[in-house]
Amino acid sequence: MPAVLRIALPVPLPTLFDYLPPAAGECRAGSRVLVPFGRHKMVGIVVATEVEASVGGSRLKRVLRLLDDTPLLDPELMKTLAWAADYWLGAPGEAYANALPLALREDKPLPATGEEIWTLTIAGQSARDANSRRGSSKLLLDILATGPLAAGELDVHLPSWRAAARRLAGAGLIERGERIAAFDHHLVAPWPLTEEQQHAVTDITASLGSFQPFLLDGVTGSGKTEVYLALIEQVLAQGKQALLLVPEIGLAPQTMRRLRERLGVAIEVLHSNLAEGDRARAWLRARSGEAKVILGTRSAVFTPLPHAGIIIVDEEHDGAYKQQDGFRYHARDLALLRARALSVPVLLGSATPSLESLANVEAGRYRSLHLRARPGAIRPPQVQIIDMRAQRLEHGLSPALLSAVGDTVARGEQVLVFRNRRGYAPVLLCHSCGWHAECPRCEHPMTLHAARRQLICHHCDYQTRVPETCPTCNAPDLKPQGQGTERLEEALVAQFPHVPVLRIDRETTRRRYAFEQLLEGLRADAPAILVGTQMLAKGHDLPNLTLVTIVGVDEGLLSVDFRASERLAQLVVQVAGRAGRARKPGRVLLQTHHPEHPLLRGLLAQGYAAAAKELLTERRLSQLPPYSHQVLLRAEAHQRPHVDTFLAEAYAALNADQLQIAGPMPAPMPLRAGRYRGQLLIEAPSRGLLHAALRPWQRLLAAMPSARRVRWSLDVDPIDLY
Ligand code: ADP
Ligand code: ZN
Ligand code: ZN
Repeated sequence: MPAVLRIALPVPLPTLFDYLPPAAGECRAGSRVLVPFGRHKMVGIVVATEVEASVGGSRLKRVLRLLDDTPLLDPELMKTLAWAADYWLGAPGEAYANALPLALREDKPLPATGEEIWTLTIAGQSARDANSRRGSSKLLLDILATGPLAAGELDVHLPSWRAAARRLAGAGLIERGERIAAFDHHLVAPWPLTEEQQHAVTDITASLGSFQPFLLDGVTGSGKTEVYLALIEQVLAQGKQALLLVPEIGLAPQTMRRLRERLGVAIEVLHSNLAEGDRARAWLRARSGEAKVILGTRSAVFTPLPHAGIIIVDEEHDGAYKQQDGFRYHARDLALLRARALSVPVLLGSATPSLESLANVEAGRYRSLHLRARPGAIRPPQVQIIDMRAQRLEHGLSPALLSAVGDTVARGEQVLVFRNRRGYAPVLLCHSCGWHAECPRCEHPMTLHAARRQLICHHCDYQTRVPETCPTCNAPDLKPQGQGTERLEEALVAQFPHVPVLRIDRETTRRRYAFEQLLEGLRADAPAILVGTQMLAKGHDLPNLTLVTIVGVDEGLLSVDFRASERLAQLVVQVAGRAGRARKPGRVLLQTHHPEHPLLRGLLAQGYAAAAKELLTERRLSQLPPYSHQVLLRAEAHQRPHVDTFLAEAYAALNADQLQIAGPMPAPMPLRAGRYRGQLLIEAPSRGLLHAALRPWQRLLAAMPSARRVRWSLDVDPIDLY
């Protein structure tokens, strides 16, 4: 057998591929190569060299070309990715592909990493002082007055900046340059840290240079971000890199502003909204060590860190860290793997830590740090339950709630009305015969979107026009049931015609940066009502927001999903945390039909930590994660027998010793977008047991003929069983 290269290719198969070395160049692990694959060419990554071929020499093909003289992926990333592919039972090629920005997965030379930097000129400074510009030109001058900025950063602050930059540069008010190592900023001096903050910083600083996970548990506004900043400062002083992950890009602008005001270095931003070229350049600057502070969403966890100092995962409980298709990794857990491989501390921060992380603290694997006080605010918001039973509701809003909204806006303050459902109404019902609008592809109620006169399926996006009369009995008696954000917006506009009502959900923020722009209009000290979905639950600072009302959490109380209680508790606490961020005291009203529900009672009386403890006890008693480990096999197909056959064969092929198996059974949503869906849930008390049984099984599955007639996937530690 000849010595060959073992190569990862971006195909959804749980295997690596063997090739003969190219005619020229010395291939090393981590380098990209161009190979023939079927009738195509593909870019792959060399995983191992000088291995013994697993197939006969005559069937081996030769690598066409070596693309990198120096490996693109360093040994640490290669090692972590191999681990990750093994742990999440992913196709190794897909794991490696996830680690590389799209532009680096192609057969093209690496882009140059120089970056455009824009600076205010002296003339620009005078123009700004004279206040002679308007609109986006004025905004751009204001933004650059805080110091030079990179194009990628300007993208985040002011999406329309390019046109303004052209005008201002033409007038000599701003100029373009190349990246400089450090900026001479008007740096904002840090707050003197509180005792709790200082304790956290000291403790984590002592661990710099070695692997140690920390959980920073602090209520919203307790100063977690200040702790991150102090730590990143230490890391920078040692000449090292810091990676800060946030669950979604909507949270990045505020964090970025604070980072650059304090640190005076360029912040690399990495997220999926970025233009591919910019993303590749930022990734390469991290790889060269030039980028010192990297701020990004889920996929940024793959950023190369040759001089790693610390990894921080903000809002670690957030489900957005779990990738739900392809390579189904969890960025928080991957951050832990990387921190271990890099010998650096990893800091998980949250006001509502996940039960997984709390269990890890309990088991002594993570060190726990607390921030209990809110340094800025006067006191934590006061939370009250409104019992909606037997109330006369106005589009789902109770009189007590409406009167509190009225009082708040009358004082010139802002209100948040939270409802986790977009659209006008979740159901359209015929009052004469009981028919309701249902998606033909999912057999699920369709949501009424009144302004667009559409019925939309929120599961598969199928859309139809709203019928004038009932399709079954012809009665003109179709009534919307229940409330979505669109209906609440309409009701609030009718009730408070003189107050601006702003709806923030996926529909109103579809355009890039629309979210930031909507919130931008709110900074003023004026009354306003925000209506929105959980997009609003995330950490935006709205200083004039003093009342938060939570409408319709009851679905969460009744759900059969074992994670529903945890999620509801996190959501309520996070949304409530929006109130009273500044000096004004905040108030939270929670409207429910189940005022006596133990979860709500517990949460209000004793707070998240106590509620979470209770939930953990329940999980332990019923042997659910984090006290057991799950893998979900999902399958779907247009024909149901294909799903059934595949799952039955998969079940038969599983060595079930010491495993608990539920199914094969239909998925909680048995039909979606016209595909029948089924699943097999496998549980074990230890990860080791589970993986030992599933590794060989995964290969059997891939080879089963029935697997070709379904779409199937394995989900390790699934967070959603839908
Ligand atoms: P979190 O990240 O936990 O939500 P932040 O770090 O954003 O909290 O802090 C909340 C507010 O309190 C911010 O306005 C911040 O500037 C302020 N703050 C944080 N730490 C201190 C401190 N030690 N002294 C005074 N103000 C502080
Ligand atoms: Zn009817
Ligand atoms: Zn549908």
